[in-house]
Amino acid sequence: MSKKPGWREIPIGTVLTEAGSSVKLKTGSWRAYRPIIDHTKCVRCLMCWLFCPDFSVKISEKEGKVERVDIDYDYCKGCGICAEVCPTKAIRMEPEVSG
Ligand code: SF4
Ligand code: SF4
Repeated sequence: MSKKPGWREIPIGTVLTEAGSSVKLKTGSWRAYRPIIDHTKCVRCLMCWLFCPDFSVKISEKEGKVERVDIDYDYCKGCGICAEVCPTKAIRMEPEVSG
């Protein structure tokens, strides 16, 4: 049986030791449901972008105007807030399929 580390060897918890380290935490792997945007219903109001707690709604702009919104699945946790706030019901939540 391998020896368990002593308390001095265990990293300190709840402390951010490096600025911007959350970029490395791809929280999308936690997701049970995946938001899917129907771009034919999207009116680019950006409510989903405003309310997403993970900054996982990406905006594409062209000539200073919002052209399209997409989900960054590397970080989206699948909370469903974007689908709730979307005024045109352009976002549906589907079960995540692994593999
Ligand atoms: S909230 Fe809905 S309509 Fe508004 S930008 Fe997001 S997907 Fe499009
Ligand atoms: S499901 Fe949650 S985390 Fe994912 S894009 Fe929508 S609001 Fe953001």
